[in-house]
Amino acid sequence: MRDCIFCKIVEGEIPSDQVGENQGAIAFRDINPEAPVHLLVVPKSHSKNISELSQDAESMEAVMSLMREVSEKHTNGHFKFLFNTGEEAGQTVFHAHGHILSQGAS
Ligand code: 5GP
Ligand code: ZN
Repeated sequence: MRDCIFCKIVEGEIPSDQVGENQGAIAFRDINPEAPVHLLVVPKSHSKNISELSQDAESMEAVMSLMREVSEKHTNGHFKFLFNTGEEAGQTVFHAHGHILSQGAS
């Protein structure tokens, strides 16, 4: 999608500190970390939020699978997986993404 910052990261038009990838999703470090480990898991296909993403079973599976893989590799196993949904909940990028927030690296 044009003018979507996470579509541009998926396409490689904007660089990111990538920590993982599978067929349907990528994971990279948040540019403004709010925890010692702060990763974003992003479906390659554009959905505006988790509700829309939940209707795309293939992307959803890719996101959950990549969450499992990168959380095992980059956290101590104690983490939150958070989807801000809507402006009033703090969503600022309207391409669905889950935040992995952990106090401890592996
Ligand atoms: P939201 O507030 O929409 O749930 O989360 C958006 C997140 O994306 C924020 O934590 C913000 O720091 C991060 N972010 C915004 N732009 C970029 C970027 O260009 N690169 C990276 N790595 N993270 C970004
Ligand atoms: Zn997008």
